[in-house]
Amino acid sequence: MKSKSLGVNTICTHVGEVEDKQFKGAISPLYMSSSYAYENVDVKRYPRYFNTPNQEALCKKIAMLEHTEAGLIFGSGMAAISTAMLAFLQQGDHVVLQQTLYGGTFNFVSEEFDKFGIGYTFTNGFSEADFVSAIQENTKVIFIETPSNPLMKITDLAMIGRIAKERGLVSMIDNTFASPINQNPIDFGIDISIHSATKYMGGHSDICAGAVAASEVLIKQIWNKAKNLGGSLSDYTVWLLERSMKTMAIRVKAHNRNAKKMAKWLEKHPLIEKVYYPGLKSHPDHALAKKQMRGYTGMLSFELISEIDANRFMEALQLVKQSMSLAGVESTILSPAKTSHALLSPEERERQGIADGLMRFSVGIEDKKDLIADFEQAFEKVSTKQLQKTN
Ligand SMILES: *Cc1c(COP(=O)(O)O)cnc(C)c1O
Repeated sequence: MKSKSLGVNTICTHVGEVEDKQFKGAISPLYMSSSYAYENVDVKRYPRYFNTPNQEALCKKIAMLEHTEAGLIFGSGMAAISTAMLAFLQQGDHVVLQQTLYGGTFNFVSEEFDKFGIGYTFTNGFSEADFVSAIQENTKVIFIETPSNPLMKITDLAMIGRIAKERGLVSMIDNTFASPINQNPIDFGIDISIHSATKYMGGHSDICAGAVAASEVLIKQIWNKAKNLGGSLSDYTVWLLERSMKTMAIRVKAHNRNAKKMAKWLEKHPLIEKVYYPGLKSHPDHALAKKQMRGYTGMLSFELISEIDANRFMEALQLVKQSMSLAGVESTILSPAKTSHALLSPEERERQGIADGLMRFSVGIEDKKDLIADFEQAFEKVSTKQLQKTN
């Protein structure tokens, strides 16, 4: 099947299946074997070789959704990220990383790379000059994440693809927030697209997995590292991920729609200071987001006015639960200042634009009216309490 001729919902539903030749069942059979007959020198099937029937099939779906040739599935997003980076970096090399990255990626680089003798520079900002000035003679990899967490800043994919190509660097993106439904970085010249499949690909907050998509040549190089590091995913979870991905396109589009509506509603609300959502015209990177994204994701952040206590507000919500993770069908919320950015000093948080009243909101697929009703009852509770306190 040619990727150009199939719609995204069809790819999600049908591409990369294990055909049930024996019983002609509608879905992929699950092969749990960790022991296969030896076929020949090239085909030695084994879960940690990333080539069981279910792994191989699902990689085809992921590759086609990301408009590229090949893919690999990992035991977590961090297994995918760490393996991809280590496949292209060795002692004496250097990597340029975007200033704002998922905390686990930041920790991996800043806690591990010194002992491998791999240099790294986090950019000062998001512009071409910020990236170019961070590149050194020994730079091999450039790593970005867009939209960024939690302020939803947008990095220019075409610009990164170009500066990497001009200098012979491998470009990588953490494409988790966008998902392949909203953004295909490879179309803009990025070499490798990486996902925490724990998020939109899985989408139901019940599995932990990772994925990488790139050309055959690059995937071969990542596979060479992957089989040594051993971060493969159990076939049972591969099978669950396949089931989840059948509905990914319709889920993500529903997340997009709800988030846009909630962003607009929050933007007008008197108790909200600011909303960060690339789908809003008021977002500083809206034009760039429009150029490189088809939808703006279910992720947004907003800042409560300073009179409202963020913790009280979160506790007052009933439908929207507090959660560290994101991108499930259910709406969740967290305070970056109290979680992901809690270890930074207040001054550093302020420098990064993480206010105490900032809330990261993973908008689910519930009905908009129910989400709004939940926010309204929570606002009512906290704002009257606040007023009583100040009177
Ligand atoms: C969750 C997440 C990761 C890490 O994925 P795990 O599956 O938890 O290892 C990486 N990047 C982003 C943007 C994430 O949200």
